[in-house]
Amino acid sequence: AKTQQRSGHYYFSRSMGVEIRERVRMMHALRKAFGQNELFVVYQPQIDLETRRPKGAEALLRWQTPDGKFVSPDRFIPIAEYSGLIIDLGEWVLRTACRELVTLHKAGHSDFMMSINVSQVQFRHPYFLEMLRKALEDTGAPPEFVELEITESMAMEEPDLLIKMLAQIKQTGVSIAIDDFGTGFSSLSYLQRLQIDRLKIDRAFVTEITGSARGSSIAEMVVQLGRNLGLSVIAEGVEDERQAQILHALGCPLAQGFLFARPMTADALNGWLSNEALQ
Ligand code: C2E
Ligand code: CA
Ligand code: CA
Ligand code: CA
Repeated sequence: AKTQQRSGHYYFSRSMGVEIRERVRMMHALRKAFGQNELFVVYQPQIDLETRRPKGAEALLRWQTPDGKFVSPDRFIPIAEYSGLIIDLGEWVLRTACRELVTLHKAGHSDFMMSINVSQVQFRHPYFLEMLRKALEDTGAPPEFVELEITESMAMEEPDLLIKMLAQIKQTGVSIAIDDFGTGFSSLSYLQRLQIDRLKIDRAFVTEITGSARGSSIAEMVVQLGRNLGLSVIAEGVEDERQAQILHALGCPLAQGFLFARPMTADALNGWLSNEALQ
């Protein structure tokens, strides 16, 4: 035990082993869960800050294990990416959300938009574009109402590849949002070269708005940037009325967050929207 104690090595590799074993365990469990329909998609409404009416929703993946526990996507998405399962899983989310979009349009919510998260692993896959075209075609989802969210960190890598990919994706008719915007360091000139449609202000900066005197400066900067580049802007993680009011005053047109609605199942969304339409 003494030698083990002296060499920090032992402890390091042991905890690494635990970590890797845990990841492998979760990878198998996730694969099985996907096969057994334990995964489902929930939808969080996106609100027009002027009219307070819903304009769209973001599709978010959920995993509930048979014992009723939820595993956070922040934990299992990286594992799905690492294992490659994200390719099939991401396609399934895309198709599920596209079908829900068609259902909502048929129910009369004809201007409704659907935002779908795309992992960089999916995005780099050689058949991504083909997969996207096929999913749109098979589900009949109108591309002009589909938005793909890619993260800013992803936008920073391999600029030339990204510029080319975005141009091709735009040809399908879907739009692109940069998620978690403000957490990376994209330059203005680079952003200008990307065919994007929307910036999504990261929750961290929305939380800051009411935190200190200069708390709203980053949100304000993103709104300005959007205006200068002719892009739409949405704020995520809006939890209280003051945040919503400040964002509105800054000129941010759209918001999403627990203040307006939590992510909900497709059935709940259909009901929620019909109810909203009556008000
Ligand atoms: P994200 O894309 O930034 O999604 C926003 C997260 O904020 C969601 O967490 C949402 O439930 C949560 N949220 C929304 N409003 C509020 C609020 O007012 N307050 C707080 N505190 N949180 C709020 P969720 O669903 O746990 O997802 C976490 C992350 O997992 C997502 O972050 C996204 O990066 C990833 N993710 C989720 N679903 C998918 C998916 O289908 N594909 C991929 N590639 N990633 C996904
Ligand atoms: Ca997102
Ligand atoms: Ca986000
Ligand atoms: Ca975020």
